Amino acid sequence: MANIKKYGFATKAIHVGEQPDFREGATGDVVVPIHLSTTFARKKVSEPTAGYEYTRSLNPTRKALESKLASLENAEYGLVFSSGLAAESTVLLALLNPGDHIVAFDDLYGGTKRLFNQVFSNFGFEVSYVDATDTSLVENGIKPNTKLVWIESPSNPLLKLSDIKAISEITRKHGLILVVDNTFLSPYFQKPLDLGADVVVHSSTKYIGGHSDVLGGAVLVNNATYYERIQYHQNAIGAVLSPFDSYLTLRGIKTLALRLEKHQENALKIAHYLASHPKVSKVIYPGLESHPQHELAKTQASGFGGVLSFEIKGTITDAEHFLEKLTVFALAESLGGVESLIELPSIMTHSSVAKEIRDQIGITDTLVRVSVGIEDVEDLIADLAQALE
Ligand SMILES: *Cc1c(COP(=O)(O)O)cnc(C)c1O
Repeated sequence: MANIKKYGFATKAIHVGEQPDFREGATGDVVVPIHLSTTFARKKVSEPTAGYEYTRSLNPTRKALESKLASLENAEYGLVFSSGLAAESTVLLALLNPGDHIVAFDDLYGGTKRLFNQVFSNFGFEVSYVDATDTSLVENGIKPNTKLVWIESPSNPLLKLSDIKAISEITRKHGLILVVDNTFLSPYFQKPLDLGADVVVHSSTKYIGGHSDVLGGAVLVNNATYYERIQYHQNAIGAVLSPFDSYLTLRGIKTLALRLEKHQENALKIAHYLASHPKVSKVIYPGLESHPQHELAKTQASGFGGVLSFEIKGTITDAEHFLEKLTVFALAESLGGVESLIELPSIMTHSSVAKEIRDQIGITDTLVRVSVGIEDVEDLIADLAQALE
């Protein structure tokens, strides 16, 4: 594939990094082999074979995944890690120094907040949180020692959006690095680097892997200096994705476009169904016209994703009864897999957030988060209907 950039998303998702090898002695595999070798022999002392020395530094299966993901995010460079949080930690250690300040969206993934507040704060990193749905609050949060702005759009579980392009204009003006966690929409629906972000991070555990069977993280950048620093730290810290997990993730990505279309189609139908149900007081989904940032969702992304939240009328006990009566939806944390998952943030994913703060930001006791899968939507709606009864 001489000019990879001219191909569409689904073509790149299938072919980039996995072109058959027709060189003398090669076997023309259409799927990249799982290179389990931890070390690579060389013929000459000072010449590693094709650049490979030791798998922590570089591995052919991992490299195939890194190049595939880079092509999908329109990035020059990709790096993959053993989890989303390993990717995030490596970015912070590579790009920041103790004493540096981060302006972060106050509705970040809980694990990211824990990493900032409980781990990096012990090493002199400073973080303050702002409501990034209001771009001016991001700019107001900047201090003399600010180096980086960290956002997520849409956020979880309230599906709030940040205007990536507008925020990137602020970070550019102040010489700051803009990091966007693009886990919720995946590169299929949103490409933050094209909107002006400097670094994209992913939990590939979610939509990119897509089958709830492989943990992983990714970092995508265009800037060669950032790439070199992050790659140096990837090797130096060592939280790399294994060859087998790289293979599983490569396999998952091939259907990313198909899956996300179906996730979104099902999510939209379920959002409409719930919005008209008498026992539901509120539905939050960027694809609904009632979402306060529906217009921004349409302009900065090409889709709305497969996650929605809704509030059940009644008490927390009513919400628990509803969740326990479901049979097709699995009552579980996580998101982005082919199977539908449902959870109660106040007791499950967001229980570590203090109740006053939960109430203040809108994570009420009966707010339910759904990761809509790609099952037959009639079965999903029938399951919700019987459990809401
Ligand atoms: C799950 C998740 C992470 C963390 O990724 P892991 O692979 O679980 O380490 C980070 N950000 C978002 C938005 C997530 O959903």
